[in-house]
Amino acid sequence: MPRSAYERSKGVETVTWREFPLGKGIALSILDESTPGGRQLKGQRLLDVLDEAAGLPPCKLTVADRPQRHRTRGGRLELKTYGYYRIAWEAAPQRGTIRIYNLTAIRQQVLAPKVFLETLLHEWVHHYDFTGLQLDRSPHTSGFFARIRDLAETLGVGFVAPPKRDVSPVATAADDVEIARPDALRPGGVPPPQWIRDQVLALFGHRRS
Ligand SMILES: [Zn+2]
Repeated sequence: MPRSAYERSKGVETVTWREFPLGKGIALSILDESTPGGRQLKGQRLLDVLDEAAGLPPCKLTVADRPQRHRTRGGRLELKTYGYYRIAWEAAPQRGTIRIYNLTAIRQQVLAPKVFLETLLHEWVHHYDFTGLQLDRSPHTSGFFARIRDLAETLGVGFVAPPKRDVSPVATAADDVEIARPDALRPGGVPPPQWIRDQVLALFGHRRS
């Protein structure tokens, strides 16, 4: 019986390269950018290097000049997401897109350089999970965070990666990931059947539009 995506995600702690990614200079130069345009340009350059070096299909980056989406409860920040990863699952070749908000949720300040770069690497590891490891979902396991650290160290920017963390079961659903299935893309705006929407909700939490 094949191991579940969760078990496989947990068991892989490094990123495997076809050729060594020469992205160190670009990664460092991203830390000098603060505008959405500058971050998008250099961030896309880094994604292209990573995809080429890992032999993956391309991943398109959008950096939006908007605050992060967030949810408050009783006036307090309850949940916020720095960015999103979206995969067109059964398209050939698969296409990934990353969207990052350049402003913080409440105070609407420009995202700190390290936080921006960490978010970019985080979302790219989701791309790696789907198109490289061929997982059918990309949960936030301990292995997932180990892959981000490994990637950051490979790029000479290990200081942006979070320290080793214990992942509680609650935190394992990746609510920054959206999978676009063919049913959701049917022309004419026909929504996917309810059972598919329920399944996606059960696996990934709320769909983002
Ligand atoms: Zn994530």
